[in-house]
Amino acid sequence: MTSKPIFLYKSDPVRGRLWAEVFHRQAPHIDFRIWPDIGDAERVRYLAAWVPPPDLAHQFPNLELLFSSGAGVDQFDFSVLPPALPVVRMVEPGIVQGMVEYVTHAVLDLHRDMPRYRRQQREQCWQPLQVRTAAERRVGVLGLGSLGTAVLQQLRSLGFDCAGWSRTPHEIEGVPCHAGPEGLPAFLARTEILICLLPLTEATQGLLNASLFAQLPPGASLVQVGRGPQLVEADLLAALASGQLAEACLDVTDPEPLPAGHPFWTHPHIRLTPHIASMTQPLSAAEVVLDNLLRHATGAPLLGLVDRQRGY
Ligand code: NDP
Repeated sequence: MTSKPIFLYKSDPVRGRLWAEVFHRQAPHIDFRIWPDIGDAERVRYLAAWVPPPDLAHQFPNLELLFSSGAGVDQFDFSVLPPALPVVRMVEPGIVQGMVEYVTHAVLDLHRDMPRYRRQQREQCWQPLQVRTAAERRVGVLGLGSLGTAVLQQLRSLGFDCAGWSRTPHEIEGVPCHAGPEGLPAFLARTEILICLLPLTEATQGLLNASLFAQLPPGASLVQVGRGPQLVEADLLAALASGQLAEACLDVTDPEPLPAGHPFWTHPHIRLTPHIASMTQPLSAAEVVLDNLLRHATGAPLLGLVDRQRGY
């Protein structure tokens, strides 16, 4: 009988089979299993899940690490997780690349007035608008983590006038960085295209509200790729109605899927995508997780370790 430690995967099984290939190739000493084929529960040492099973401590008494199969951990109910269990979020190159592509596309679309041209086309209206250079367009990113930083680097390389905002001070070459509630007004006052790449926490819930929109220059636009509950829907609709905001590109909503008949579906100044800005790429994700298992075994710091106090 084998005594191999079990790595249990509880997420999309199709992607799980790709993880399994990487594990079989690179970590034959680990028994990789896909939920619900849990094997001997006492041997389950590692779990990767989008939604962990209830009563984790009781079901898997020897669990050492919990990985989120996605970049966020807001779907976890920390109050029911064993208090000492390390939780690791997904930081992998595939997610970063997907987000850089999505946000760059959204920013270029807004910068080059494409929402307006799409509306004009529907009206058979041939009306050129003055083209502004990227250097004249002030773009700001809320959240300077693995995604916000990569997005800013790409936007900067396209020549945009960029700034960032985070909880603690950051330094990014060529990008003025603001921090904390006291740094927010100056950041907002200069930002014409606002990108939200914040995790969902108590502090960021409802942050995208009327008061925040009012601090942006009139006619600014929003790209929301964080989490749905960060946006106060009624305040967005009011800001679009008054012209304080010109356009919104939303990849996340609350709830998801967005219910039928919701005003966002048909709003002429809202562009919706179904939470596809970026996705965990199974092959690179499995590599990153294997690297973290090695770190765990050697006592090195884990990449993407969640600080439960902060909530991300
Ligand atoms: P990180 O944890 O690497 O970075 C989070 C950033 O947000 C940090 O810079 C942090 O500040 C900042 N932050 C957190 N709380 C606050 C606050 N209260 N005030 C100001 N700044 C704050 O996360 P990632 O970059 O990997 O991911 C960010 C989020 O993107 C995810 O949590 C998820 O919600 C979303 N996402 C969306 C996807 C989609 O498809 N739509 C896909 C993947 C992720 P500091 O650096 O000071 O700690």
